[in-house]
Amino acid sequence: MDHSAPATRHAARAREGGEFQSPSLERLVRALSRLPGLGRKSATRIALDLLREDAASPHELAAALAEARANVRHCGRCGAITEADPCAICTSPSREPHQLCVVASPVDVLPFEKAGFYRGRYFVLGRLLSPLDGVRAEDLPFARLATRVEQDGIGEMILALDASVEGEATSLYIQRMFHGRDLRLSRLATGIPVGGALAYTDEATLHRAFQFRRDF
Ligand SMILES: [Zn+2]
Repeated sequence: MDHSAPATRHAARAREGGEFQSPSLERLVRALSRLPGLGRKSATRIALDLLREDAASPHELAAALAEARANVRHCGRCGAITEADPCAICTSPSREPHQLCVVASPVDVLPFEKAGFYRGRYFVLGRLLSPLDGVRAEDLPFARLATRVEQDGIGEMILALDASVEGEATSLYIQRMFHGRDLRLSRLATGIPVGGALAYTDEATLHRAFQFRRDF
């Protein structure tokens, strides 16, 4: 059993390499690397950036994080990120209520809103079908999508999913779900990079992909 003080144990590990000679920095790196998709290397880079004199003050950062945690939520109708539920897009009388754009992630709403050409509403799936990763149809909100289409009398649904294997599988699933229904179902034209994240597509490309959307 190791009875040495934590600081001594830490110094020993630091000497062996792989850890900084600062337990405080190690704690920060460990906290950051618990975030999804952030390995130790990226966490270390962010931690070092945060420690720079000219970085945002730690109190400001902590306050911003606490405020966001308390206020940010997903819209119960469309799934977009909002502070008011339902969100401003769902409640705006100037948005076309019968046109629905289906996206994978709340982040995918942003390029559409930034470009400004789309005047309908959204439905965020949250994830894409991926049988290999164990993401099946029952894990996606397809039942809620069907209810939304029914209740709002949706006349056109635009599938704006990534051109990845998962995006294709999800688009096909939705197409089969609504096959034979009185509903125009279209998908963005090619031009969105294959496997590329929709959220990072430039406005012109997105607008063109929307204009030349293809019916299923
Ligand atoms: Zn909404």
